[in-house]
Amino acid sequence: MSFPGPAGATGPRVLLRRIRELMALPLDGQQRLDRLVNIIAGDIVAEVCSIYIRRAGDVLELFATQGLNPSAVHTTRLRVGEGLVGEIARTAEPLRLTDAPNHPKFAYLPETGEDPFHSFLGVPILKNGQVLGVLVVQNKTARLYDDEELEALQTVAMVVAEVAASGELILLDESVVDIGVRPNLPHLERGTPFAEGIAMGEAFLHAAPIGSHPLIAEDVETEVKRLDQAIASLRAGIDKLLQESEHSLIGEPRDVLETYRMFADDAGWHRRMREAIRNGLTAEAAVEQVQSDMRARMMRQSDPYIRERMHDLDDLSHRLLRILSGEEDRRQLPERAIVFARNLGPAELLEYDQERLTGLILEEGSPNAHVAIVARALRIPLVGRISDVLELVRDGDDVLVDGSAGEVHIRPSREIFQAFEAKILSMEAQEAEFYAHRHDFAETLDGHSVQLNINAGLQIDLANLEEVGADGIGLFRTELQFMVSSTFPRLGAQVEFYTRVLDAADKKPVVFRTLDLGGDKFLPYGNFIKEENPALGLRAVRFALARPALLRYQLRALLVAAAGRSLNLMFPMVTEIGEFRQAQALLEREVERLESFRKPLPQTIRVGSMIEVPSLVWQLPELLDLVDFVSIGSNDLMQFFFATDRSNPAVSTRYSFLSPSVMRLLGHISQECSEKEVPLSICGEVASRPLEVMALLGLGLRSLSMPASGIGRVKSMVRKLHISSLEQLIKENDGKPAAVLEGTLREHAATLNIPLADV
Ligand code: PEP
Ligand code: MG
Repeated sequence: MSFPGPAGATGPRVLLRRIRELMALPLDGQQRLDRLVNIIAGDIVAEVCSIYIRRAGDVLELFATQGLNPSAVHTTRLRVGEGLVGEIARTAEPLRLTDAPNHPKFAYLPETGEDPFHSFLGVPILKNGQVLGVLVVQNKTARLYDDEELEALQTVAMVVAEVAASGELILLDESVVDIGVRPNLPHLERGTPFAEGIAMGEAFLHAAPIGSHPLIAEDVETEVKRLDQAIASLRAGIDKLLQESEHSLIGEPRDVLETYRMFADDAGWHRRMREAIRNGLTAEAAVEQVQSDMRARMMRQSDPYIRERMHDLDDLSHRLLRILSGEEDRRQLPERAIVFARNLGPAELLEYDQERLTGLILEEGSPNAHVAIVARALRIPLVGRISDVLELVRDGDDVLVDGSAGEVHIRPSREIFQAFEAKILSMEAQEAEFYAHRHDFAETLDGHSVQLNINAGLQIDLANLEEVGADGIGLFRTELQFMVSSTFPRLGAQVEFYTRVLDAADKKPVVFRTLDLGGDKFLPYGNFIKEENPALGLRAVRFALARPALLRYQLRALLVAAAGRSLNLMFPMVTEIGEFRQAQALLEREVERLESFRKPLPQTIRVGSMIEVPSLVWQLPELLDLVDFVSIGSNDLMQFFFATDRSNPAVSTRYSFLSPSVMRLLGHISQECSEKEVPLSICGEVASRPLEVMALLGLGLRSLSMPASGIGRVKSMVRKLHISSLEQLIKENDGKPAAVLEGTLREHAATLNIPLADV
């Protein structure tokens, strides 16, 4: 696998020399464009050369032309997708035609007088993968422009991109794509919350702009040498990172770094950059041109693996530019750094000094992206999907982040700053208090003890076990290791990983949940079939039973890792007990297999089922005879119970967990489990929310598994409660609307001095 891209040709050096001379002249943006079209038309021997610049509202405006009617300049406009020019902007691909008027996308524009021109060659004007405009040449006779001419035009388009992005054209016309416009005013941006928490700090741009550099090479050989040296130094840097990661406690980034090195070594990438230099660009401009071109190609790929690689390309290109500019490869983070990036890989995030990394803001990302998973494990707030935030922020700006609300204040006013400061101080004081009490027992005032476990999935989560004083891991999401790897973790790697988890947990119990893939948790390398409705698709245990080899390998790895100790495992999304039986049969086969090889087995094996699908609730009598324990996955159970997409903010909070239907559903499960004496726990996000926890305790639950950040507040709350009062409250409010129960619980919390703010 390598970066996608075309082979190049020899180059337009003379043309570039002329352009360099032009760029040195004291001209404004419009004058430059006017001269440029002249030079290009002369060099390519074209009767027409035109430059269209993208303006607000996705419109392409003719900014300069040689050969078309001059009165069409600043008058002719096409929408993106309209006509041949619009098509180039839409696809970000060049278009080469011998008979343009016969192309289905051809749009006749009488004011330009372009009808007699048959041959057409157009290329996108790209900057950072964004289409800023289109550059076109045309001839009357039907001819096919060759590769060399295409290459020449693409290189020139890069120079035009510089002019378009420089702001020179913005002076001419304020609504041109506003690259380079960075106001100083306070700014509030809203994005999608991916990791909760509040932070204040200093903006740190992951890919800070690198000082300007010349575009056109003085001496090609010198530039090739500079590029080769930079590539060598880039490789050495990655090798060093790899070596360091070998000894680091954090195992996950290794795979990612391996893939990263593979791309850094990609011969096609190197070749394309050298070709761009041979076409007359400096090493820096060549890196940028190839990055921009490849980024545009990758963005249009639907293959998630290729799209995932886009940030590798961005990061590698950026590192190369830093090396070439003589700036340090990695800059020192400020003391409380809020990192801003287009997107980040988990390895890049972990590479930052964890002591200083305070928050993360991304232009892209998704809640289940690796970087979001790692941010939650590191307990730093992450807000994603704020498009163009990088245009607004500068290194060193003051920033406040509310990861729960998805808000980012850039250069906040003094009032907002003070409000945040007060909030953070009180949170820190509370955290310190929780930490001081982390070894206390979670026991109610009337003597009921409550198991408080954490949800985990990465090695970095394990430190939290001690840090927050949890009893164990109630949900170990094994798919996360698969999701942050670049290939299927092999048996050996799985055994090693699970062994490390069990070692780190020491004697504390760990409940491994078998692979919960599918839905929105896909692997970039797995051969997943695209589904119309993945939440209801071939996911979790359904997927595992459809591809049993994967599950068998995992079960084998778990059995080997837990040899001589206790193994607790559970299956996700069981919908019918037949699925549980099938999964259990696979486990038995693996046990027998190990026995036949006389391999040591776990001392005890406890097998449970998650309750995430309502249909399973109506099979409890039979299910409870088969399982050693059950665990309610409330995130999914609520999604299916209320028929609301858990990741769609428009509906995900529409129905209350405290509604009478949920209380009766959970009351029923709790009752059945207690009659059959089957241990019951709950492992969704609600297990960390005080009001909901009070209700759960009143319904009879005594084991909760939650994000590590919730343990402190839940433990401190449990120690102030009487179970008997909660049972009473639940009984009295049976059948009452959610708001009534919520009001009662709030009052109860207030009388017991239980804080509820911000959760
Ligand atoms: C759940 O659905 O509640 C659960 C714990 O599993 P996940 O969030 O990983 O789907
Ligand atoms: Mg689930």
